[in-house]
Amino acid sequence: MNDVVVVGGGIAGLLSAARLVAQGAKVTLVTFGVGGLQLSHGGFDVLGYAPERVDRPFDVLDDFIAANPEHPYAVLGADAVRLGTDFASEFFGERLVGNDGRNWLLPTAVGALRPTYLASPTMVNAEARAGHDPVVVVGLQQLKDFQAELIAGNLVKQQIPARAIVLDLPARTHEADASGLTYARAMDRADYRADFAKALGKQLLSGEKALIPAIAGHHEAAAFTDLQTRLGAPLAEIPLPPPGVPGMRLNEYASRRLQDQRVRWILGARVVALHSEGGRAVSVDVATSGHLTKVRADAVVYAPGGFESGSLSLDSHGKVLETHLGLPVRVPPGRLIGPDRRSEQPLFRSGLAVDDQMRVLDDADRPVYPNLFAAGGVLAGAMRWSEKSGEGIAAASAVRAADAIGDLA
Ligand SMILES: Cc1cc2nc3c(=O)[nH]c(=O)nc-3n(C[C@H](O)[C@H](O)[C@H](O)COP(=O)(O)OP(=O)(O)OC[C@H]3O[C@@H](n4cnc5c(N)ncnc54)[C@H](O)[C@@H]3O)c2cc1C
Repeated sequence: MNDVVVVGGGIAGLLSAARLVAQGAKVTLVTFGVGGLQLSHGGFDVLGYAPERVDRPFDVLDDFIAANPEHPYAVLGADAVRLGTDFASEFFGERLVGNDGRNWLLPTAVGALRPTYLASPTMVNAEARAGHDPVVVVGLQQLKDFQAELIAGNLVKQQIPARAIVLDLPARTHEADASGLTYARAMDRADYRADFAKALGKQLLSGEKALIPAIAGHHEAAAFTDLQTRLGAPLAEIPLPPPGVPGMRLNEYASRRLQDQRVRWILGARVVALHSEGGRAVSVDVATSGHLTKVRADAVVYAPGGFESGSLSLDSHGKVLETHLGLPVRVPPGRLIGPDRRSEQPLFRSGLAVDDQMRVLDDADRPVYPNLFAAGGVLAGAMRWSEKSGEGIAAASAVRAADAIGDLA
């Protein structure tokens, strides 16, 4: 297999491309928007709830698969989830830590404790299971998306001794409402980090950990370590609501690395059609500003995300559609919308059905084309948000699809 087209630049597309180039394929990655990675908390979820909170995802995976036979993990098998997670861990290297069998338990921007399997090293000092050292949650007067009082109050409810402080330290002078990204850019500068450490240091009590919003540097990889050294106390970032700087850091790293590995990128462009000859996919049409370009493909990995990226939609007749290529969608039986916002919403289990090689299946369970594969959020059978399984599914299916393409060669 020489030429492989990967559709989608989310984590499923990025990891598919990485695995394929490692096998010597010529990869063209087409994506029209930012993937969920840039919007995410910057961690890697394998399984956080099943439905109770999960401490050790791989210990419960067999039971989870038995209870959820339509889930992508059931199609892939537990070993594939392990393989995909290890591949992602290797790919992101020191940017994601953990992979020791247990979930981290880290505070969110509302002070809840959230399980995730691989986490940014800038967050793990906030691990809630490491014992309950006192913490100070550090807000910034100009950063409205991070309410230190609320976070500290909710941490206290979970037996974590916490208090809140708010610093008056604008990222840019005279700016009343700044975003996390504005602060992260300021933190890329040593002079701003010095001011921040000085202002925080004055209010930090002996033995306290400082929990700050996830703003410790955008491009400057050493910003977090430098800030912590200046402070002389343990520091941790808490992710902000999307878009999140930690997710942007991962996305930037992944994109740069794939470009260095000569993946051809077509950005800001949408795949709008798939052509076949002799029962095989042979090319895709890519729509870029005002014209269509045909890109030849020996195989296609289709990783356009789910409802959140607009690749699946519910029409006014209650029909679930795959919006770009019109591929057959598998929809769970019964009512698709739960009675209230707290109940399960089966609609989100809709998606593409695949075989164990990740080939897209038609309504009769036959591969639509032997060389059309799917990965990530477009797959049927998961409740990624509530399970906290999105990245695990993306990585396992991406690796399986890439390996299946390698086997076709
Ligand atoms: C705000 C937010 C928060 C989330 N939080 C969680 C969470 O806490 N836990 C969890 O497990 N999951 C979460 N998810 C879901 C998680 O992001 C996804 O499970 C995972 O990122 C899916 O990755 P993906 O690569 O399959 O799709 P995506 O990340 O959605 O990427 C799909 C990409 O394909 C591109 N694309 C789509 N169609 C085309 C086309 N026709 N041509 C070219 N490009 C196309 C899109 O622009 C996008 O770049 C969240 C998602 C969002 C948006």
